[in-house]
Amino acid sequence: MHLVRIVCLILATLLATSTGSASVAQSSSLKALVGGTLIDGFGGAPIRNSVILVDGERITAVGQVGRLEVPRGAEIISTEGMSVLPGLWDMHVHLMINGHADYAHWDKTYPAQFESVIMPASAKQLLLAGVTSARDLGAPLEASINVRDRINVGKIPGPTLYVSGPFIQKAPYPGTELFRWGVDGVDDARAKVNKLADAGVDVIKLIDQDQMTMDEVRAVVDQAHQRGLMVVGHSHRPEEIRRGLAAGVDNFEHTGLSSAPDYPEDIVRALAERTANMSRGPLYWTPTIEGLFNYEYLRDNPEQLDDPAWQVGLPPEIIKDIRQSIAHPDRLPYFQLTPVRRPTLARKFKQLSDAGVVMLVGTDSGIPMKFHSSSTWRELDAWVNILGVSPMQAIRGATYWPSVAMKVDQDVGTITPGKYADIIAVKGDVLRHIALLQRVDLVVKRGARVR
Ligand SMILES: [Zn+2]
Repeated sequence: MHLVRIVCLILATLLATSTGSASVAQSSSLKALVGGTLIDGFGGAPIRNSVILVDGERITAVGQVGRLEVPRGAEIISTEGMSVLPGLWDMHVHLMINGHADYAHWDKTYPAQFESVIMPASAKQLLLAGVTSARDLGAPLEASINVRDRINVGKIPGPTLYVSGPFIQKAPYPGTELFRWGVDGVDDARAKVNKLADAGVDVIKLIDQDQMTMDEVRAVVDQAHQRGLMVVGHSHRPEEIRRGLAAGVDNFEHTGLSSAPDYPEDIVRALAERTANMSRGPLYWTPTIEGLFNYEYLRDNPEQLDDPAWQVGLPPEIIKDIRQSIAHPDRLPYFQLTPVRRPTLARKFKQLSDAGVVMLVGTDSGIPMKFHSSSTWRELDAWVNILGVSPMQAIRGATYWPSVAMKVDQDVGTITPGKYADIIAVKGDVLRHIALLQRVDLVVKRGARVR
């Protein structure tokens, strides 16, 4: 089916090239991105003077100027002087929050506007930032499914979403029952996972698994796997990681263990034991590390908190409420321990890398002072400029690997004929200056230019 489709697309392109004016009428959906240096997502040397042909939603051909002909009638988009790359993924976002510093207030005040206003605004901001795919990890079930589906049918702008719906945990914190489901016993654990799977979620988000019985943790993970869903596990505490590993969690989140200096030896050994099992596939880790590194800078240089980009799509009264909550970045309880955690982060990141996990770009976007309009490029920037990850590897953590992790690499994640045309371009060389991604010049999602 897949190969047949590619062949058909190539034939269609050839036909469009050879039949001249007859094809013009039907070629309104043809686009050619011409001239820029292409980073295709596979990690090899970039392709200079690239040509990408797009027909409708899909990429039909990739080549170089002078070798791959642009069909007559195609809309030509110049990418001269630009880096061209797959649309970015953010593997950990929270569309239902927008940087407000007081969760208790937010959860009391805004649920009625999550689906209609807040989640769509977050989604639009992500897309404008070059994020064409995002994984939303924790929100009310109906709102998650409905916003995802409205984006998919083109009713509202946003990245292609992969949603977990409510968190699965031992017990919801008071006032969070809308988006946190408790499990009481093995049967209840399986029932809750089934309810989410029946509703059509893409992934199961597990947290506080150190407060569950081991039987409950296993029930959640086994049932999710039986339903074909990956399990993403919180990993702030040592026992969350130990239990998650024992039960078979597929993807851990955060750089955890608070201000402790490193991951304990037994966890590092267990990680290496897990990553040594090639038949089980890679173990994924989303370190969501940028906000921890940059808090002190942000506290002392808060101009970015005034950036109108995070206000796109939000009504004035919500903007005002958020602004008031973050008026004193130095006083926020949420961040008081962050300067103590910061010196431990590089070592923990290295321990994880050395243990062989595959790192994914994700940001926790939406948490206090972290906005959907800028979280993703900042995470890439922190990996490269603070942690010494190569720009190519960082980009792969935001393109190729997320698509593999979510099992949609046949459709997205690289710039390859047959895949959806999720493409971004930015003036300059992102392999030398990764922070250029803060101002993406061109965003194409499923063949449609959105920026
Ligand atoms: Zn989160």
